[in-house]
Amino acid sequence: MSSACDFISRRALSVDASGIRKVFDLAAKMVDPINLSIGLPDFDVPEIAKTAAIDAIRSGQNRYTQTQGIAPLRERLRTDLSREFGRDVGEVLITSGVSGGLLLAILATIDPGDEAIFLDPYFVMYKHLLNLTGGKAVIIDSYPDFRFHADRVAKAITPHTKVLILNSPSNPTGIVMSEAEVQSAVELAKKHNLLIISDEIYEPFLYDAPRGLPSPAAKYDCTLVLRGFSKSHAMTGWRLGYAAGPDAIITQMTKLQQYTFVCAPSPFQHAALKAIDVPMDDAVNEYRRKRDMVYERLSKKFEIAKPGGAFYIFPKAPAGRSGAEFVAKAIEKNVLMIPGNVFSEKDTHFRISYATTDEKLERGCEILTSMA
Ligand code: PMP
Repeated sequence: MSSACDFISRRALSVDASGIRKVFDLAAKMVDPINLSIGLPDFDVPEIAKTAAIDAIRSGQNRYTQTQGIAPLRERLRTDLSREFGRDVGEVLITSGVSGGLLLAILATIDPGDEAIFLDPYFVMYKHLLNLTGGKAVIIDSYPDFRFHADRVAKAITPHTKVLILNSPSNPTGIVMSEAEVQSAVELAKKHNLLIISDEIYEPFLYDAPRGLPSPAAKYDCTLVLRGFSKSHAMTGWRLGYAAGPDAIITQMTKLQQYTFVCAPSPFQHAALKAIDVPMDDAVNEYRRKRDMVYERLSKKFEIAKPGGAFYIFPKAPAGRSGAEFVAKAIEKNVLMIPGNVFSEKDTHFRISYATTDEKLERGCEILTSMA
């Protein structure tokens, strides 16, 4: 007799979600946890964007849009990005979140056997997307400072290397690449003819970079920039992101979008056009303050590379304990965090999201420091 398991593809089985599942299993038993695990802002979508979405639905913007997204939004993003990078950024494709952009980017560029390099720790999706497409994830240890060490990356480049994935500000470390690091990444990419996929979803959340995010897109034409509205405008459930870069790559991604996502959600594309102009400085200033507060408290007891962006901090578990062990102990004390091994080949750290109330952060930090 056949069982439903007989029908599961090797592709699906190649994705291992056991690390995060263990955390959710433990978390399910918690009552009113101090939740420092959430990867999204703790404010809501700006009112202007909500009204624009409702108006768009009421006025009938409920059908498919063009696969590449509505023209006014694409044009606006192209103008803004081109101004920021000091050159025409190329075509823009509106995607279903940055996740949608990542999937299409990998599908459009990676053949079986092609290698893509990224730093460890990494955003979980990179590894799984490469597994799904038959590509090879080449993961470069960036511990303990989580900086871009060009020498380590250079050693890992082979004739099969096609893509360098950068993520600044980073999930889970919050580290922001410096101008010099971006320059060294671009030099490597130029020398070895690599495409840079630059995941800049946390771009607005910068705390120590008065001149904005150093992006490889400002220096290197063969950069595919991925950004979105999930984090910047707290619309993770609206599924809206965008990809900008070389026309040949965007054309292929658009074709693949046509046969997968079809288009990004229509009313929310109209709302995003309004959301762009809402100043988010207050939210960024708030998160800078929270970053300072959490760093100041935790760095007394934990080894931490100070984050410069996003809303994550990635401390090292106390000596003698793995990240997973420490997180399990913290969960017993009602503090929920994510163990570093969910984002890494190592199990030495843990991720805290400080996108929550001061009160929870204070209690959380107190409990964690008492455990160190
Ligand atoms: N890239 C990074 C680094 C992320 O942290 C996330 C979300 N956690 C994404 C991409 C995907 O975001 P979304 O699909 O909501 O735009």
